Order: sequence, then structure tokens, then C-alpha cells
Amino acid sequence: MILTRKEFLALTGKSVAGFSLMSSLFGKVFASEKDVKKLLGDAMIEVKTKKLILKHTWTISRNSSDFKQNVFVKLEKDGIVGYGEAAPNVRYGENAELTTRRINQAKTIFQGRDFFHYIDIKKELDAAITDQSCAKAALDIALMDWIGKALNVPLYKMWGLNPAEAPLTSFSIGIDTVEVIKQKVREAEEFPILKIKVGTERDEEIIGAVRSVTDKPIRVDANEGWKTKEEALERIQWLKSQGVEFIEQPMPAHMLEETAWLRERSPMPIVADEAVKTAADIPKLAKAYDGINIKLMKSGGLLEALKMIQIAKALNMKIMIGCMIESSVAISAAAMLGPYVDWLDLDGNLLISNDPFSGVKVKKGKLIYNSKPGIGVEGEF
Ligand SMILES: [Mg+2]
Repeated sequence: MILTRKEFLALTGKSVAGFSLMSSLFGKVFASEKDVKKLLGDAMIEVKTKKLILKHTWTISRNSSDFKQNVFVKLEKDGIVGYGEAAPNVRYGENAELTTRRINQAKTIFQGRDFFHYIDIKKELDAAITDQSCAKAALDIALMDWIGKALNVPLYKMWGLNPAEAPLTSFSIGIDTVEVIKQKVREAEEFPILKIKVGTERDEEIIGAVRSVTDKPIRVDANEGWKTKEEALERIQWLKSQGVEFIEQPMPAHMLEETAWLRERSPMPIVADEAVKTAADIPKLAKAYDGINIKLMKSGGLLEALKMIQIAKALNMKIMIGCMIESSVAISAAAMLGPYVDWLDLDGNLLISNDPFSGVKVKKGKLIYNSKPGIGVEGEF
């Protein structure tokens, strides 16, 4: 029998409708392999690299970039989806390819597990991923997002934190020409606190450019740029006269003795960034630094960050939560711990032009939290 196009469409249309009805009535029979996994309570983990485009070329004392390749994770089980993100950083020997490999290797840890045993899962992730801490962060964020969604609470609520208590976030200005720096500072008008990258021969010129446009409080980050304690002290004394609140990682991370010498003489707090990755690093830093900058990509996720906060508090150190260039996934995850700390620098998502997700927002430096469960993000995986 030869059918006209119209007859064919009418017939297949009926069949499709019939099949849909059958599928919904006998869903389990017609379910795809993916659906069967869901029904059996197995975990599914998808990994994707996305190119995040920077609004301005991003330059710090180490390097320069126009885009970042971040790795995203989608963790699904029992119909609940958790999202995570890794921002590989060359300073720590990380890249998107190796990070993706580590995530794929760690997938088996999630199979046949009760996700509420997340402390056990973290322990296994720590043992399985010993480099690419950002890969661990992506899985940890996705897992904790999943837990929050399964309990139907935002993570800040699960951890007993009041979002209204979160300090204001600073907005970062990378190293650039005087004209571009002035332009960036003008664009950042709504932010009450700026974080300025220093650590090159051009420090005075850069701070001068910022100060020619604004007198708002500034914080500076040398990213290990000053190589002797005398040079660092001289720069810090000058920075104090320019209304700087504190200095992040003035000298290379390994120069602990020199940093302790500097701290005794410094007129402003010294905060460790490159010198601290996980909780185990903190006790030895207490003599040389006034505070630590926690980043989920260094710690390997939220659970370790939580531990770091508690250890730093016990050692009477100040705590800052910072970030890499990240989308709203990792930024919103970090913001969940915001009310627990002294200083925030969560602007990574504001520096990119194609954020695939939305979550915590920022208005005049104040984080605006939503009441969605988990890390509270929505978007295009
Ligand atoms: Mg830093």
C-alpha cells in the first residue's frame, strides 16, 4: 500500500500518541537505559568542558588569559540532579583534560552508594584524587548540591548560617594599562570594595591609577610577586599610605620564615592564598599569616572548606573565601559558606560574559541569596 504524505503523518501521529500513552502507563517497561538506572537508584555522572569568556583580558603577576576552560559535572540519582564545577588552575598543575580524566576515574565511588554517607564518599575522593583538587571540588559541589536538594534546603540553611550575615564581596581589578585600569574601576562603581592585583614593577603606577578614580577601600593581592622580605615590607608600608586594608600572598608560598618576619613589621594583615590549599596546611601558617583565603578549587570542595573554617577559627585566624574564574555554579557553592567568614572575594562569575548558570547574585557588593535547595543554581548544563 502506498500512502500519501498526509495519510502517513496521520497514521504515525496516532501511533506516536498511542506509544506515548503506553509508555506513561507502562513506564517501567518502555524506559530507556538511562531511566532504568534512575529507577534502580544508580548514580549517573556527566562531565562537560565549557569555555568561559572573560570580559577583559585577565592579568595577574603570573600570567594572562582571555578565556578559561572549566569542567562541569552533573550528578543524577533518584531523579535528583546536583551540579558541580572545576576551574583548573595552571599554578597547581591543573588542566581541563586531566581534571576530566580524574572525574571519570572517580565515578565508580558514587555507584551503589547512599549519598547521605557523604563523609565516607569524601574520604574515598581524597584517596582517589591526589592531584587536580579542582576535580574533587566539582564532584563535592555536585554531591552537596544533591544532598541539599534531597533534603529540600539551601546549603546555608543546612549548615545553620544566616545569609544576612555574609560580608560584602570585593570586586577584582586585574593588572592592565593605566587607562584600562581607570576604565575598569569606573565600571566597578557599584562595588564598595575593590581588590587590586599587584606584585609587578608597576605597583605604584597601578595603585596610583586606581586612586586617581576612587577613594573606596581597597585590598591588594601580590600573587607571590615580591621576592624579598625587604622589598615586600617597603611596598606594604607604601600601600598602607594608600588606604589598603590587607595584603594577600605578598611573597612566594614556600617563604614561610620571611613572611613571619614581614608579619611582625607589617602595618596591615597578611593573608595566605597560594600557601594554603587544605585544612592540613593551616596550623603551620598561623605564625606567618593573619588569615587564610579559602577557595573551593584548592580545598577540593565544600566539606574541606568547612573544616578549614573551623580550624582557622580555632587558631584565631581571619578567614576569606575567594574564587578562581568560575561560573555561578562554583561561586554560588562558595557563597553558601559566606556568612561564616570575615571577608569575601566572590566575583569570578562577574568577570565572564557567558555564564551558563545563575544562582547567587550580587548587588552593590552584597550577595543576594535565593531560597532554592542545594547551591541554588539553574542553567544550561
Ligand atoms: Mg589571591
